[in-house]
Amino acid sequence: MSSYSFLLNLRSETLNPKILKPLSPKGFLVSPKYATGRVRENIEEFNNSGAMILADNGNFSFIDDITTNFDARSDAFIDKVVKEEKRLGHKVRPGDLSDSLLNECTSLALEVQKTANKISLANKDPLEFTPSHLIGAEDLTVAALLKLNIEPHYLNLDRNFFKNLNTGVTSQAMRHMEKLPAELSKNYYPVASAMSYDTAYDAGEVFAKAGIPKVAMGFGAYLSDRRVTDYVDIAGIRTEFQDRLPNSYIRSGIIAKGFWDGYTSFLGKPPEAFHFLGLGVPIMLGIMSLFTWETPTITFDATSPIKDAFSGTMYISHPSFLKVKNYRLSTKLANGFIEKWDCPCPFCQDFIKKYPFDYDKGTAWFQENQREVKDDDLEEESPLAKAYPLFAKLDNHSMGKEIRLARIGHNHWMLNEMMEELSSHSIDFSGLKKYMGKIVENYQKTALSANYAQAIQFLYQIATTNEND
Ligand SMILES: [Zn+2]
Repeated sequence: MSSYSFLLNLRSETLNPKILKPLSPKGFLVSPKYATGRVRENIEEFNNSGAMILADNGNFSFIDDITTNFDARSDAFIDKVVKEEKRLGHKVRPGDLSDSLLNECTSLALEVQKTANKISLANKDPLEFTPSHLIGAEDLTVAALLKLNIEPHYLNLDRNFFKNLNTGVTSQAMRHMEKLPAELSKNYYPVASAMSYDTAYDAGEVFAKAGIPKVAMGFGAYLSDRRVTDYVDIAGIRTEFQDRLPNSYIRSGIIAKGFWDGYTSFLGKPPEAFHFLGLGVPIMLGIMSLFTWETPTITFDATSPIKDAFSGTMYISHPSFLKVKNYRLSTKLANGFIEKWDCPCPFCQDFIKKYPFDYDKGTAWFQENQREVKDDDLEEESPLAKAYPLFAKLDNHSMGKEIRLARIGHNHWMLNEMMEELSSHSIDFSGLKKYMGKIVENYQKTALSANYAQAIQFLYQIATTNEND
């Protein structure tokens, strides 16, 4: 039995009674740099109400400081990798690169590590508020390497290099925890890091050996990877893909699997709690519930539901866990594929009561134009923005604030729905497997990209296949 929750990032856009009251979030993530003024005052209040207040370590904002001086060198190196891949006819695999290329990338990576170390250990401003939970020690090397598109098999370094990064973090974490008040020390989440199944397995083992029960890991860097892969290695077994699948999904999934495998193999039980930093892709939340099942408390946070509300993407929990662009929803309404936007969430309900949709206007537009709706068709003064005000483009929109608020609320409300569904189906693994089976099946029918759908199918399979079968 697991409980899954999505934490709300507390900042000016979300600190609004119109969002907080209908949503009643179970917890909040607070970055130190946003914990000022009104936000800080409210933290005390939320703390008193018993909500989970997870203070981020704010490290992610330093990634660019680390990588900026290495961008040009890594770009030049990646060009050489791409040339190799063209010659080989497939993505570079371990053992494919020449020694001179391996050495070139290794010296770059070691310099990145040195810089990351300096920044990771730099004295940070102490928190000016009291959280209930804390994201703790972290080594930024892996996040920086990912940002520079460097893969472990571009390096002349073995698994121990990555293992040592995690050992460094667990020792630092132990020292921190000793100094913390007892309550906070119990809710301290050091940050593990990995780039592949093997390195994640080792990280799990290191954290288990150190007896750390609550762990965090950053998934933002994995998910912002725009590259593809045509193979994956899991526990010494290579799977070759027919097509090129998104690195972002494949890596996120196998790293969760690797970490749980490593941790459980050492301690005989999974971590007590785990926080996914920067993971807000709806379908991946579902996939992660399978890899992490048996860990009692799973939490996620990401700023993507806020950013997507700005840019015009709505989250949907049925028939699958989806993100849908507003112009696509508008097409479906205009061509009659869906009859109406009847979202039951209080944010859409309130908004539509005030600014009702004019479905006839949308249908008339489609009869006249006979084509799919494009993003620009939703500009404020356009007929479609008048027909579907909730889906209008925000740029300088006179009702921008209200539209944004409704969409931020809606996206988080949908995420909460998904979390409740996952939690209620997690009493036994077969129940969760069955529930997610349906979600994944429907994802195959609705996902826009066949390659993303394939990646999800693959992850579902490895998450639900027992190695002993
Ligand atoms: Zn809604």
